[in-house]
Amino acid sequence: MAEEGGPCPDPAPPPSPALALPGSYLESRDRFRELGARAGAKQQCFFHDADDDTASPRLSTDTAYLGPADAQTLVVIASGTHGVEGYAGAACQFRFMQGYAARHASDGLAYLLVHAVNPWGFFHDRRVTPEGIDLNRNFVDFPVTHDAGYAAYHELLVTRFRPLPRGWWNEARLLSHALTRARRQALQAAITSGQYAYPDGLFFGGAAPARSRLVWEDIVHRFACGRRRAMLLDLHTGLGKRGTGELISYLPSGAAAFVQMARWFGGDLKSMAGGDSVSAAVEGTLTAAFERAVAGQSYAIGLEFGTCAPLPVLNALRTDHWYHNNANRLPPSERERARRKMKAAFAAADDAWCRQVAARFDQVMAQLVRGLSAG
Ligand SMILES: [Zn+2]
Repeated sequence: MAEEGGPCPDPAPPPSPALALPGSYLESRDRFRELGARAGAKQQCFFHDADDDTASPRLSTDTAYLGPADAQTLVVIASGTHGVEGYAGAACQFRFMQGYAARHASDGLAYLLVHAVNPWGFFHDRRVTPEGIDLNRNFVDFPVTHDAGYAAYHELLVTRFRPLPRGWWNEARLLSHALTRARRQALQAAITSGQYAYPDGLFFGGAAPARSRLVWEDIVHRFACGRRRAMLLDLHTGLGKRGTGELISYLPSGAAAFVQMARWFGGDLKSMAGGDSVSAAVEGTLTAAFERAVAGQSYAIGLEFGTCAPLPVLNALRTDHWYHNNANRLPPSERERARRKMKAAFAAADDAWCRQVAARFDQVMAQLVRGLSAG
């Protein structure tokens, strides 16, 4: 399942003020490996199609380990938990590796960069795994009967969805559920908090652990479990105001670890459990599972970069599901349209956005390192 590559120290020049997004999953993986080698990282490749060596291309989650092998504290930076969101996440990882020698090599911490937690979604410009699963709802004990109200909207959201102008009446009905701020928030929670009954639906948490979950758990077990302290920074896009980067914890704001992390980030940490985050309360996240898996002191947060307004994001997801639920009777042009919408919603990057995200990522990393170093 894993292959090792040797270190090859060759510090790269310092990163530019902006992120450089890759053009595809394969380009991103090549770049990740190249920059990892230059930074002197110990690299490993975890194939997702271990039982099928004829798969082309073979998709993998790749890791790059930087810092002392026996460091007491490990910082894990993950990209592509939601496939298509990996463009920006991977670009942040490139940036980290480019600046590693100058900024982090002497801070005493170890870093594990995990590229493309869900490589299939990244490769296909989808948010889900090949099983149709939202990986950030999949870290639960199955079977699950949890339902936050999604069932009431599945037909409007998915079954009756047609791209405009054909589906305009259905869209009007859906919008009637979102006329006030309170109703919009209730609708967002019902849709996004996760459901386990509709495999063809949005935010489906699955009926069993996804392949990506098993690979991720293997990586966490290998690298993080024996540490005195471990911290996960899971990089996402698609929620919040464009160009901002919200730090999100699944913990309630009164929890000791939340209070400690909030101090590190100058109070700039939101609790999805408390209702003040751009994210609804979600079960089965990578971050919650990470804290459970690490025996020592553990911390885990998501960093969510805003791209565009909620409605285009939701409609990109619905178009994507509509195509894949009806792929056998739709032309390839519809697949391309769905793909373009997904990239526009989760990875549309102009120069200003790339600069804002780079600056925010740098700020978060500096705060995180200062916080962990202070103890
Ligand atoms: Zn995400």
